[in-house]
Amino acid sequence: MLTNDELAKWDRENFLHPSTHLGQFARGEAPQRIVTGGEGVFITDRDGNRLLDGFAGLYCVNVGYGRKEIAEAIADQARELSYYHAYAGHGAEANITLAKMVMDRAPDHMARVYFGLGGSDANETNIKLVWYYNNILGRPEKKKIISRWRGYHGSGLMTGSLTGLELFHRKFDLPLAQVIHTEAPYYYRRPDLSLSEADFTAHCVERLEALIAAEGAGTIAAFIGEPVLGTGGIVPPPAGYWPAIRKVLDRHDILLIADEVVTGFGRLGAMFGSDHFGMRPDLITCAKGLTSAYAPLSASIVGQRMWEVLVEGTDEHGVLGHGWTYSAHPIGAAAGIANLKLIDELGLVRNAGETGAYLVASMREAVGAHAHVGEVRGEGMLCAVELVAERENRRFFEPAEGKGAKVVAAMLKRGVITRAMPQGDIIGFAPPLCLSRAEADQIVAVTRDAIAEVLG
Ligand code: PMP
Repeated sequence: MLTNDELAKWDRENFLHPSTHLGQFARGEAPQRIVTGGEGVFITDRDGNRLLDGFAGLYCVNVGYGRKEIAEAIADQARELSYYHAYAGHGAEANITLAKMVMDRAPDHMARVYFGLGGSDANETNIKLVWYYNNILGRPEKKKIISRWRGYHGSGLMTGSLTGLELFHRKFDLPLAQVIHTEAPYYYRRPDLSLSEADFTAHCVERLEALIAAEGAGTIAAFIGEPVLGTGGIVPPPAGYWPAIRKVLDRHDILLIADEVVTGFGRLGAMFGSDHFGMRPDLITCAKGLTSAYAPLSASIVGQRMWEVLVEGTDEHGVLGHGWTYSAHPIGAAAGIANLKLIDELGLVRNAGETGAYLVASMREAVGAHAHVGEVRGEGMLCAVELVAERENRRFFEPAEGKGAKVVAAMLKRGVITRAMPQGDIIGFAPPLCLSRAEADQIVAVTRDAIAEVLG
């Protein structure tokens, strides 16, 4: 077996890591962790640490680590049929069964599901379907996509453009021209502190209306949004936001894509965030929680009105020119089936709602009154603590001070993994949906101690 030092050296000399400071990593100046195992909400590493994973990997290991049922389903599938493609009407028992299971759980007006590999490619599929839809309807100029600042939709060319975070655009020549951004529904960072939540929803609606008027509704195809902003800060929408946005989109014949890569399959305490917030989307994007990341698999769920136009399109123009080699991969599908069964059997959607609410309430009680905590917020098994220099006038710390990252590092020292969200001093929590109250207590106690250490 390789020694830790040998592995670490190979890692630095060969591996180009995603979302990593490349120079610092190659020079051995950046953190490096070699993960060896996982059980429940804990992971272990080569240095002998056992860490509570308060972010479920990247909000994806929803059923927790080490589930034998999923591992066995994957092994059985690999032995029986490791792969066959899904082009030209080919299927396998696993992907056909999973399609039925997804559609049984999806909102009522959804019609079909396409399977890909991850959240970025599923959004890419959805944008292509939107463009195809408008071409079939004979309105080729209706193509722009509205996304929100602070939205996260992936890091491909189109999806990185949709993502409303500067880090993902800078030096990549993004966003592409077809993408336009509107205000983030982020009540704590509202432009005018005197706005009530309802006023702020009205403000977001006005901003959207103004953007549509400026660009022309005839040029705009779709609006994409996460039910709860995720990577942009873990921000639940202000009251009435989604029904109000949906109304505007209906008036201008603009489709709605619900990006449920984080929220799909239970994280908000409901099977889908679309139902939880009354979004009535035309397309839904899923990934992460579909397999709890035991294997890569994503889903683009297509609503009835889009489906009818897609059928019309292929009747007129032939085969749909879209697909990946690994679309509906049988091993991913086998993992998905076992995962969705476990979510049901263990009552994880209910637990996400109940233990999630307990986590947020306990967090608020423990740190909500701290002089440098501006807000504690959450929805289901998502929680965020936003740090501020001064509470009263909502003055933020200078980014260069890295206060959020320092708190996250202090938590790691105490055995809990969390994430400093990329824009602002926001500590994000998205534990596995099987989190217990005792584990929630551990997260809260460690957060309180780390904030005290860094901020007094
Ligand atoms: N959409 C959302 C809401 C996400 O959070 C993510 C990933 N964090 C993606 C899309 C992209 O998914 P992936 O990284 O699997 O491509």
